[in-house]
Amino acid sequence: MSTTDRHPGAHLGSRPGSRRLLVAGAGIASLTLAVALKRTHGPALEVVVCDPGLEAGAARHRGRAYAVAAGPRRMFERLGLWPRIEPAAEPMRRLVISDSRVGDPVRPVFLTFGDGTEARQEARHDAGEAGEPFAHMVEAEPMVGVLLDAAREAGVRLVTAGVRAAVPGPRATRVTLSDGSTEEVALVVAADGARSALREAASIGWVGWSYPQSGIVATIGHARDHEGRAFEHFLPSGPFAILPLKAGGALGHRSSIVWTERSADVPALLGGDAAETLAEIERRFGPELGRIALEHGPSAHPLHLGIARSFRAPRLALLGDAAHVIHPLAGQGLNLGLAGAASLAEAVTGALRLGLDPGADAVLREYEQARRFDSVAMAAATDGLNRLFSNDSLALRLTRDLGLGLVDRMPGLKRFFIGQASALRGESPRLLRGEAL
Ligand SMILES: Cc1cc2nc3c(=O)[nH]c(=O)nc-3n(C[C@H](O)[C@H](O)[C@H](O)COP(=O)(O)OP(=O)(O)OC[C@H]3O[C@@H](n4cnc5c(N)ncnc54)[C@H](O)[C@@H]3O)c2cc1C
Repeated sequence: MSTTDRHPGAHLGSRPGSRRLLVAGAGIASLTLAVALKRTHGPALEVVVCDPGLEAGAARHRGRAYAVAAGPRRMFERLGLWPRIEPAAEPMRRLVISDSRVGDPVRPVFLTFGDGTEARQEARHDAGEAGEPFAHMVEAEPMVGVLLDAAREAGVRLVTAGVRAAVPGPRATRVTLSDGSTEEVALVVAADGARSALREAASIGWVGWSYPQSGIVATIGHARDHEGRAFEHFLPSGPFAILPLKAGGALGHRSSIVWTERSADVPALLGGDAAETLAEIERRFGPELGRIALEHGPSAHPLHLGIARSFRAPRLALLGDAAHVIHPLAGQGLNLGLAGAASLAEAVTGALRLGLDPGADAVLREYEQARRFDSVAMAAATDGLNRLFSNDSLALRLTRDLGLGLVDRMPGLKRFFIGQASALRGESPRLLRGEAL
């Protein structure tokens, strides 16, 4: 069977826009997609990234940091970006989980992941990656700076404007930008965030809810070295995570915190002066890392769960938070977006290499099939863990003590928790396995 038999009417002609792709939203996942595609196809594919926020550049990501799992880190390596990102990345070698109340004198540690053991076990199936840390904490501002530079170097067209409308036709989508200009493109990638206007305009449904919780993020300086350890204290109002950053700051060492609290309590917790806020953080932070100081933040973000009913519409693919929003307790939201970027780059590349239309339904179906199950599974797992831990009932305390004991004994679930599961499975996209597109 010829390729055109499999994708009737999908072959590329020389029509306008047939080799042009427009990405709405310049986040980390979407810039990675743009760089991967432009590096692979060069002048054969035009890639436009538009975002009104480009005016502020990488600076609008200041103070944020993300746990980047091993798979996405391998993708950055394959794209030649990791050596430029690494100076802002701290390897996470150990994750220590405890379950207690604020003020408990002892925090029983009943689960640890660490020393790369889990990655090593899996890596036996995945040539030559033994001993890698299971994740790196990467500061967002320098990472976005690297991605913007790489996009420019590769020839991605960066446009400081938003998408106002995208009208798909049989052969191309006509996009109107907020600066009044128009583009004819084969595919629009909607990476315009959780409240994606493009998703709504395409009438793609959204299943989800808001948690009565907010995620408070801040950068904390501390006197003792974290030695690559991350801590997650499951407190009754939600998890309090301490995530290791590169050394620096006034006290010599730094960590990022993601502190989940009931949204109703946030004004009282953060409403005081800096000393009062620091005292609240200190009560939860624990004494392990010595004296602490507030270096950046805090800022509070209301938490939601949501999954798009479909990741595609005619000539439109949803990417990142436009497709899925999950609870941050396992630090996997951005990683899901990066896995999506790897899958979409692979599907589009497959089509272009066969001379097919990169915006064809078959391409978008391939992308959706690769990503939707993992995204739903991760959303459900983080939601379940949050429900299990964010409360203070004795019955549930017993259940979860037993539950985490089980997690510790089940390597599959453990890998899932540290973001290894999808990254290292045989069927994961090539870029996440560190292979070329
Ligand atoms: C407290 C907290 C902690 C987290 N920690 C982690 C972590 O440790 N690890 C992890 O993997 N994930 C984490 N996440 C999740 C992560 O922050 C998100 O998944 C990720 O930032 C989503 O990126 P995005 O590019 O899809 O969306 P956004 O970051 O929302 O970007 C959307 C972009 O689209 C642009 N835009 C909007 N409308 C338009 C338009 N019409 N046209 C063009 N552009 C438009 C916006 O200007 C914006 O730049 C955390 C989330 C929270 C709330």
